[in-house]
Amino acid sequence: MKRIITFLFLFQGICLLAQRQDKVNFRHGEVRIMPLANTGHVKGFVAYTFDVLQDVDSVFMDARNMKFTSVRLDDRIMKYSNSGKTISIKKKFKRGKSYTLELDYTARPKQTVYFMNWSDDNLNNNQIWTQGQGKYTSYWLPSFDDMMEKVEFDLSLTFDKDYEIIANGKLIGTEETDSLKIWSFDMKEPMSSYLLAFAIGNYKKQKLTSTSGISIETYFYPPDSTRVEPTYRHTKEIFDFLENEIGVAYPWQNYKQVPVHDFLYAGMENTGCTIFSDGYVIDSVAFMDKNYVNVNAHELAHQWFGNLVTEKSGDHHWLHEGFATYYAYLAEKEIFGEEYFYWKLYETLTALQNSIEKGEGQSLLDPKASSLTFYEKGAWAIFMLRERIGEEAFKMGIKSYLEKYAFGNARVSDFIQEMERASGTDLSDFVKIWLEDTALPFVAARKKLAEKSMSLKSLFSMQEELEKRGSTDINFTAYWNGTYSVELRKYMLQNFLKEMPGDIIDSVFSSDELELRQALVLTIQDAKDYAREKFESFLNDDSYVTLENALFKLWMAYPEQRNTYLEKTKGIVGFPNKNVRLMWLTLAIFTEGYEGRNTKLYFDELSGYTAPEYSFEVRQGAFQYLKQAFGFKDSNLMDLAQATTHHSWQFKKFSRNLMMELLGDEVYKERIITLLGKLKPEERRYIESKVK
Ligand SMILES: [Zn+2]
Repeated sequence: MKRIITFLFLFQGICLLAQRQDKVNFRHGEVRIMPLANTGHVKGFVAYTFDVLQDVDSVFMDARNMKFTSVRLDDRIMKYSNSGKTISIKKKFKRGKSYTLELDYTARPKQTVYFMNWSDDNLNNNQIWTQGQGKYTSYWLPSFDDMMEKVEFDLSLTFDKDYEIIANGKLIGTEETDSLKIWSFDMKEPMSSYLLAFAIGNYKKQKLTSTSGISIETYFYPPDSTRVEPTYRHTKEIFDFLENEIGVAYPWQNYKQVPVHDFLYAGMENTGCTIFSDGYVIDSVAFMDKNYVNVNAHELAHQWFGNLVTEKSGDHHWLHEGFATYYAYLAEKEIFGEEYFYWKLYETLTALQNSIEKGEGQSLLDPKASSLTFYEKGAWAIFMLRERIGEEAFKMGIKSYLEKYAFGNARVSDFIQEMERASGTDLSDFVKIWLEDTALPFVAARKKLAEKSMSLKSLFSMQEELEKRGSTDINFTAYWNGTYSVELRKYMLQNFLKEMPGDIIDSVFSSDELELRQALVLTIQDAKDYAREKFESFLNDDSYVTLENALFKLWMAYPEQRNTYLEKTKGIVGFPNKNVRLMWLTLAIFTEGYEGRNTKLYFDELSGYTAPEYSFEVRQGAFQYLKQAFGFKDSNLMDLAQATTHHSWQFKKFSRNLMMELLGDEVYKERIITLLGKLKPEERRYIESKVK
């Protein structure tokens, strides 16, 4: 059974090997963009104003596969060279002078700008959005793949007037001409090119204002108005908390959050304009299991850590991801409480320990380190640093670091220097142990957790007892009654269900503690081990994970009750990935005598979910159910072929693996080969390369 994945992390460290232009300073970029949805082109114009700091005989911009129709320097047409990666202009630029360079161009970005669903008949799900980190803004705008080049960008976008456009900066006006509308945005401060972004689609918005007066706009699709509250729950609280906690005012004019279809990651912290996966657009029932709170806080924290102060290179990526992760956990501590926070740290410590035991430990200064290292070890290092120097010095150091390097770039050593200054402490041992070493001081980390959390202290003594005596000799009742911690009790249910006394299990069955009940339904393998009515009560819980599991386990255990269970859960969709609906359809088709006349309808619905108009999470679920239970129709095979070239690498990988498996089966292979003529060239090329 597929459980939901929590996205803790998502951006890999990127190592930009861009050339540096330190003899000129690009100060301002005026950008005009017109995306052409039908062909996937971007028509653009940019005017850069730059100051020459030292005499130099050329300037360049990163520009991938672009065609330039006009290149003018201070209104004079210029010769230029276009390598397909950069455009450069040769001229003797004089120190102390300023120039304006204007470029007109067309691009057909093969990444970074994603045109979604423009070829199908449904107009409601048409979108265009960007994702720049690691995927270079220079695919749609001549700009700077070097994070050190910070420019004040003002964007304007022209598009079909029926769509909403969202971009970095403050919307200062719109103008309609026939069927088109021009949206103009203004920024006041400089930023790195990778943080430029826009999104186009059908949106409405909810307006909030932070206590400090910053406008916060949260976007949603028109049919999702009832999901706005659960999706963006705690948004203002998070914003106020972070501004207060960090101690430096939010650095940009406003803040926007925009969900998009089939996003590559959980979220991306574009300056003042976070774009995130619409898989987080949820209803109230989903909130307990999968909510946007962590991603919301993480991307917001980046507005300081990454956007205001940017790493000098990938060696300093801790300054982005460690801090965004740490401050998101602090925001969650504010909302969900201390138990949640310390158990989260315990969970990530365990993951880090496992990776180190496998010999995969990494230094936080390794630019190629994994997400686990940058995000979780990174957050741990900051947590321990704060414990080491105390809250007051920590906050003082953070403030002076952010103020000193504001709108600029920093190295890890710059950060450490500020913390040493603020605390009057030599931190070289901290740097060695937490940043340089590939290992991790587990004993010290666990000791710290035990100091902070009573329930973790109990857990550690339980673990010690277990090691000495084995689980049969442990007094679980004493541990259970000795705590109110839901986390510790969950842990006991998940790990020692068999050893737990019956009256404790009964108390969970009759409680309304949803998290404990969920731990129980997930851990119990056979529903028949417990009284039927007790297990059936799970079907009433406000949790789609609990519901999906309870439905499946009851359906397996009590064949004579299948119709009743299906009737009770009919019409429930579940998470945005339709977890409950896909399961329900599969069970309904398999249940003899249940709405026999609808069986074909249900199969068609399930089979239809592999189509590109659905999100890749839904498609992946449908492929899995079909594979396990029914096999594939030709339309599913065509959808799978399409998915092997999908822009989301996770889904592409899943689809390619499944395609390889099918090609290993002679019957499927035959069928797929006969479909080749109907496929798009790139899909056909991929399959042909595997068939040979
Ligand atoms: Zn991040």
